[in-house]
Parts: sequence; structure tokens; C-alpha cells
Amino acid sequence: MKLPVILLGATGTIGKSTLDILRAHPEKFQLLGISAQRNVDAVRAIVEEFSPAYVAMRDKAAAAQLRSQLPASMHIIDGAGAAAELAATPCHMVVHGVVGAAGIAPLHAALKAGNKVALANKESLVCAGHLMIPLLKASNSEIYPVDSEHNALFQLMHHSRREEISSVVLTASGGPFLQRDISSFSSITAKEAIAHPNWVMGSKISVDSATMANKGLELIEAHYLFDLPPDKLDAIIHPQSLVHAIIHLRDGSSLAHLSTPDMRLPIAYALHEGLRPCAAATPLSLTQLSTLEFMAMDEARFPMFTLARAALAEGARAMLTYNTANEIAVEAFLQNRIRFTEIVEVVEQCLSTTSSAPLASIDEVLEYDAMIRKHTLERMAA
Ligand code: MG
Repeated sequence: MKLPVILLGATGTIGKSTLDILRAHPEKFQLLGISAQRNVDAVRAIVEEFSPAYVAMRDKAAAAQLRSQLPASMHIIDGAGAAAELAATPCHMVVHGVVGAAGIAPLHAALKAGNKVALANKESLVCAGHLMIPLLKASNSEIYPVDSEHNALFQLMHHSRREEISSVVLTASGGPFLQRDISSFSSITAKEAIAHPNWVMGSKISVDSATMANKGLELIEAHYLFDLPPDKLDAIIHPQSLVHAIIHLRDGSSLAHLSTPDMRLPIAYALHEGLRPCAAATPLSLTQLSTLEFMAMDEARFPMFTLARAALAEGARAMLTYNTANEIAVEAFLQNRIRFTEIVEVVEQCLSTTSSAPLASIDEVLEYDAMIRKHTLERMAA
């Protein structure tokens, strides 16, 4: 029997890489359902090729358009709750490639239903990891991290005992502005910011990589995924993106994970539940590599990283605020409404007003997220 897979965020870059793997293994996997925001043409192409039973479309008008183009027997659900509804359908694996805090409810629904999740959406853990991880532990589900650094760590963790770990290091490419004169940062354009040197990614995560907010979010993600205290977590810059994570052990050994930067590798590892039945990415040819460089995080250049550390120390509301204010600011930057350097200013201002009261349920998380969204937009308009 083929293993049914649900793909959330099917038209994004994680979606495309996942479809590549499903295409290569038609004997093993079957696409059961997909979710997308509003890209009707891309969804129709996926439906025609893979014949999933379910489609979840966030945008109602796009869903109506899709209905008019597909057979009436096609099960199409729509609206803000559609992806979460789909995520709760019993399956082999939910591949979660939704962008941003929109991924919170789908992750919650998948874990609650006991579905295994190949998780590329880091924002859901950043905003609600304190609720997701207990839910994960109480259920039969499993999270296979699909973020390259966390997938690397997940693999490395199997080779080390928790008490032997002295620290865990995520690598960061440094993005497109590692060498750029800091005094010219205010004139950075959206086009420059989304041109990532090593990875092909969506625009939101590309801007996050340029500001290093992505590494800040990943630090928080690692804190939750691997139950690591902030003082054991760090990030270093490694421009070649070939070493993805390193674990330093107390005897002086260090374990590192290397691969070519290709998201199909972590996705395949997750879909195969930690097994490696076949090639997923081009093998690394060590003798053909140029130098591997490593350098300390440049916090003057990348203040968004420093802010993430502060939010992690502060607690759940601060982490959510960091994430959501950043989402809104990045969107505004991509639409040329604010400057690149204003992203950090907006996030910092929002963080200065958060409280430390707990967020006790997913509903409280979603409510707070909506409030921060509104508040951030108002601040930018002021
Ligand atoms: Mg990553």
C-alpha cells in the first residue's frame, strides 16, 4: 500500500521540492491532499499530475475559481481553517511548508490528530512551541525537522547522549549582505534582499536570511525541538552552507553534518522516517570544495539575531511578538513601504511593549498573534 502524504504549502519552494521526491517514488508515496493560499494555476497543475483527493485553499475566491475548473467530485475546502482541517486527516506524513504564523493552527491540528509532521514551518514553533512540544509528547506523532540545520541536528542527536552535549551550533550563510558596507543598509532593495547566494527560497525566508532573523527564529526552533537551554545554543557564519550544524561534546569531540544545500535531502529523510533508501541530493565531493570558512556572528551587522536571543530569554509572548512583528515588517519591506533597516526598528519597538503573561492555549496564541499584527501595522502607519 502506498503511503498517503499531505502537503501544506504545496505551491511554495518546500512544496516543489516535496513534489520532486513524490515524483521520484510513485511506488511508495501517494499525494492525499494539498493546501495553498491562492495560486489556482499551480494547484490545478499539481492536481492534474498527482490526483490528490483533497485540496485546501485559503483564499475563498481562488477556491471558487478552482471549483469551476476541476471536476465536481474533487473535494475542495476553503478559508483560513482549511489547511488545519486537512492537516488532521489521517496520513503517513504531513509535510508542513506553510510560510509564517499561518502555520500555527495546521501544526496544532496535525499533532492533535496524531499525524507525523515533516516540519519546515519554523514560525509555528517559535510562536507556540511551549504548547506544541507537550502535545507532541502526549501523542503518537513525531516531528521530523525539515529546516536544513535542524534536520542536521536531528541526525546528529542520534549519535550523542544529551548529558554529553556542551553546545549546539547552527550555521548561517550570512546571506547576501555579509560583506556589504553597513552604512548602505538603509538603501537595500527587496530585489537585493531576496537574492540568496546559496539557497533557492521563498521571498519571506530570503529576507529573513538577509537580516539574520531566520537564524534567530531557528535558534528558538532548536530550543523547542531539542529541549536545549539558550546558553547551549549558538550560531556561526559559514558562507558556503555545506556544514549545517555542529554538536560540541564534553570530551572535546565535535560532530558536524555536511551536505550540498538541497532541501530535498531533509524532506526525503523525513518522508522516509529517518531512513535513506536512495539518493536525495548530489553527493558532496570534498576534494572539489573550496575553503570552508567559519566566523563569529556579527551582531552589529545583524541586530535581528540579537533581538531573537533576547526574546527567547524573555518568554512565549516575546517570541511570538518577535516573529509576528517581523512577518509584518518584512511584508511591508517587500512592498517598498519601509526600508530594510526599519525591519529591526519595528520589531524592537513591538518587543518593548510585550508582557510576560503566559499564553496558555492555542486560542490565546492566535488571539495574541492577531493583536500583534494589528498593533505592528498601526505602528508602521503612525
Ligand atoms: Mg534553515
